[in-house]
Amino acid sequence: MNSTASSQMANHLATSARVDLRSDTVTRPTAGMREAMAKALVGDDVYKDDPSVNELQDKIAKMLGFEAALFMSTGTQSNLCGILSHCQRGDEFIVGQMAHCYRWEGGGAAVFGSVQPQPLTQQPDGSLLLSDIESAIKPDDSHFAMTNMVALENTWGGQVLPQTYLNEFSAFAKQKGLARHLDGARLFNAAVAQASALGTSPYDEVKKITQCFDSVSVCFSKGLGAPMGSALCGTKEFIAKAHRVRKMAGGGLRQAGFMAAAASYALDHHVLRLAEDHQLMAHLANGLSGIPGLQIETPQTNILFVNLVDGAKAKGAALQAHLKQEGIDMTGLYRLRFVTHLDVDRAGVDRAIGVIRQFFNA
Ligand SMILES: *Cc1c(COP(=O)(O)O)cnc(C)c1O
Repeated sequence: MNSTASSQMANHLATSARVDLRSDTVTRPTAGMREAMAKALVGDDVYKDDPSVNELQDKIAKMLGFEAALFMSTGTQSNLCGILSHCQRGDEFIVGQMAHCYRWEGGGAAVFGSVQPQPLTQQPDGSLLLSDIESAIKPDDSHFAMTNMVALENTWGGQVLPQTYLNEFSAFAKQKGLARHLDGARLFNAAVAQASALGTSPYDEVKKITQCFDSVSVCFSKGLGAPMGSALCGTKEFIAKAHRVRKMAGGGLRQAGFMAAAASYALDHHVLRLAEDHQLMAHLANGLSGIPGLQIETPQTNILFVNLVDGAKAKGAALQAHLKQEGIDMTGLYRLRFVTHLDVDRAGVDRAIGVIRQFFNA
């Protein structure tokens, strides 16, 4: 290995002494990804001149079975551009009460687009009941905003929306004339988990999911391990609209190819390996099971929630401080969240299990 490559490697591993289970967004580019970024051909993407951006857009559109795709700075920007390309001022979209594109994106669709969200309570698995959607659709009457879009999120809190539900949802929304948007920030985690369960290919499963939607947003900066970026996919006509909205939203980037090359590398090398994150998460859940006061929610992908109940509930703050001191990072005080990703390994997870067991004398 030459000195540049070894210093890149060192940088990648520099902080790995800590076991960072806060989020799959904390990954740093691997040596291979850095090499792909350094070699990337670039141009001015506002003129559509960046070959690496164009290649990424073609690749993700093809992988998800859409005509076209657009590289976005963030998932938030991607959802915003998606909603504003489906909806006009005075329109509304139906969305889960706890969905990211309603609750966690600063109300962007309302703020920037004058598009009204109609939030609905989600089922425990993250789905929206079709009967709830039906009763939320407004009649064509001047009293009401015009309902013309519905959004789902997959994975939802690390859970995979059942394919049978997606199929029914898709037919129903289509029949009602609603545009169907998927916030698929962790879409590939869903596809990989679904494929593992069925013994099929994640590349086939991902299309089964996406074909239920008119537009899909997917993040490269989460489990796929790229430093930044998302893609919005849809028809050519839809993406042409989104291109205009993205410019308005300040997302017309110039030599973005360096980042697109990282995302492209992630699509080539980091999709199938998501299964390792899921296995590691199952190992963590298993390692924590049986500790009194810890209620473990069975993980389906790379996210685990652990509720502190009974006597353990009062120990949340102390546990968090103890974990931090022992070099383990996670989030939540009573409902702990752990996320596995490219930058944690079995040894790190075993260390986390050991420290938590020791804290509870279990
Ligand atoms: C992270 C996330 C987003 C937004 O991504 P950013 O890149 O952080 O803006 C959207 N939806 C879901 C479900 C997410 O987890």
